[in-house]
Amino acid sequence: MSELTISSPAKINVCLSVLSRRPDGYHEVEMLMQMVGLYDEVRVALRGTRGISVTCDNSAVPVGEANIAYRAAEAIQSLSGSDAGLSIAITKRIPVAGGLGGGSGNAAAVLVACNKLLKTAFTRVRLAEIGAGLGMDVPFFLHGPTALAQGRGERLTDLPPPDRFWVLLVNPGFEASTAWVYKNLTLGLTNRGDCNKIQRLTVGNAKEVLHNDLEAVTSAEYPVIGRCKKALQSVNARGVLMSGSGPTVFGIFETEDSCRTAADTLSSEGWQLYPAVTLTESPLAQFIES
Ligand code: ATP
Repeated sequence: MSELTISSPAKINVCLSVLSRRPDGYHEVEMLMQMVGLYDEVRVALRGTRGISVTCDNSAVPVGEANIAYRAAEAIQSLSGSDAGLSIAITKRIPVAGGLGGGSGNAAAVLVACNKLLKTAFTRVRLAEIGAGLGMDVPFFLHGPTALAQGRGERLTDLPPPDRFWVLLVNPGFEASTAWVYKNLTLGLTNRGDCNKIQRLTVGNAKEVLHNDLEAVTSAEYPVIGRCKKALQSVNARGVLMSGSGPTVFGIFETEDSCRTAADTLSSEGWQLYPAVTLTESPLAQFIES
């Protein structure tokens, strides 16, 4: 095998609580994360000449070393001791810096692909350890499709996926910096460490369990986030929340029809709209030996 193409899904944070600031500068978090069916495509190929190259069809995404997918390839290449070169081609569909974990998912896909192509035979646990060194959302993409993330985000407990439902992802068309959002968070205002108590997410209980401590920070800076939420409520979403550090907002719908009808209704707003189903299996799972 000299080449592998993997679908790299987006995630939403159904619940995100920031518990404390840690002495190492990170935050202690608790997040219930769920993969959804909006995908980038990541193709990794072995090539004769040493080195790593990354290309992407979206010019907003850095190529070369600044790309987290590059760093994933570099990490596994150096652990493998292999001389083989690697070329990575990313087709972007997930909004960049949107709170949907696109880059982290790409990095996980590259780890999984390189593990196969370079025959390193690392287990899921080892890959997730390597992933945590790249970014705190990377380990989730080596687990999933549904998991509770604790610690800095790297301590994962897999949970049974909820019965399928649909989300309408609404991205107002700009990037939000995760580092900026955490820097501007006032911790005293956040004390709802209840993501670990959610037994099972359903369309029926979504309204009560959806929670994101970062939403107030990002939406104070970008009032359009509040407008996206209101718009989703007006088309009868069963629950509405900002994902991660934003700015993407999602609304929950029971059926594909109701989700797509809501997207049609909001199509004149000038936002990017992505109807997506919750995943009951990770597309990376078939490539990982546990
Ligand atoms: P999270 O929800 O994990 O905080 P995000 O969805 O908000 O992530 P990403 O799309 O992963 O954000 O991008 C964050 C930043 O990382 C971007 O501003 C971009 O410059 C940089 N980046 C590096 N590699 C990638 C990649 N493969 N895909 C997207 N962005 C990348």
